Amino acid sequence: MVGNSGEMVSVSGIYKRYKDLPVLLNLSFDIPKGSIFGYIGPNGSGKTTTIKIMTGLIRDFQGEVSIEGRSIRNWSSELSSTIGYLPQQTSLQEWRTVDQTLYTFGRLSGLQASEVDKRIKEVTEMLGIAEYRKRKVSKLSGGTLQKVGMAQAMLHRPKLMVLDEPVAGLDPESRVLFKNLFRQLSREGTTIFFSSHILSDIEDVADTIGILGQGRMRYMGSMEELRERVGRSTEVSLETVEPIPDDRLLESLPGVSKVERVADNRFHIILQENGQIDTVVDSAIRAVLAQGLHIRGIHPNRQSLESLYLSYTDGEGRP
Ligand code: ADP
Repeated sequence: MVGNSGEMVSVSGIYKRYKDLPVLLNLSFDIPKGSIFGYIGPNGSGKTTTIKIMTGLIRDFQGEVSIEGRSIRNWSSELSSTIGYLPQQTSLQEWRTVDQTLYTFGRLSGLQASEVDKRIKEVTEMLGIAEYRKRKVSKLSGGTLQKVGMAQAMLHRPKLMVLDEPVAGLDPESRVLFKNLFRQLSREGTTIFFSSHILSDIEDVADTIGILGQGRMRYMGSMEELRERVGRSTEVSLETVEPIPDDRLLESLPGVSKVERVADNRFHIILQENGQIDTVVDSAIRAVLAQGLHIRGIHPNRQSLESLYLSYTDGEGRP
């Protein structure tokens, strides 16, 4: 067994396609024990697919996944008790009460009868849903349902929590509650893996982030390092009087990595890592004037974290 390393999860060379649609292309990453890992990528980029592979729900894939050194190819009850999973759409039995649902789940995940009641009390209090314990699941609002899903995922004190878009659709107060809970669980040694398509949802809580784009991990590292990259990289905002018909006019300039069209006459010109801001401004002015167009404004910006993220995912997943 190779379970003594510091990795809780090790994903290596995953390749997954649905019929003719390739989704994951050689995806690899490791998640250190105790970390809060934010998995971010646009809608449709393959986050849920990755999560379903990690939780044993999708078996038809190439590559290897191990959790605490155990391959998920040989699924065992030990793996089930190691993992707590919150699916994107919580599917709970609607005709039952919150207590009944949690009780059954707790027993199925290996808790003793005497433990389950105590634990249900604990987690429902932590999540602020104790007052709903006797309610039928069908009567709950979306946010409360999400909290019941979270209660279920953490009930058996899993070492690894895999949460698919856990804060999507929550009100701001509940988002804070969830994020504080992630921090608390992490301090207690739980590894948290959670996904989102919104950068701001993960940036203040994840210690490590992975950006999924084009089926691969486009960035993997600390939030600090990502912020440093933002500090280094820059972009130039350009507004012309007349529209610029073709982005290539700007894309082809030396030192330019990418051009985002904000409007027909407004552009963000994103520099290559070694691009010189003065050279890009100068050559953009020359190129625009050479077309007989007029400039209304041009100025350098620091790139936002959001636009750095978009540059990794490259517009993928959008219609
Ligand atoms: P994300 O969670 O990042 O939004 P998903 O993993 O849900 O992405 O989906 C990735 C891509 O795979 C999408 O284009 C989606 O439509 C497609 N997809 C997901 N599940 C299936 C399936 N069961 N059959 C066919 N295509 C699927």
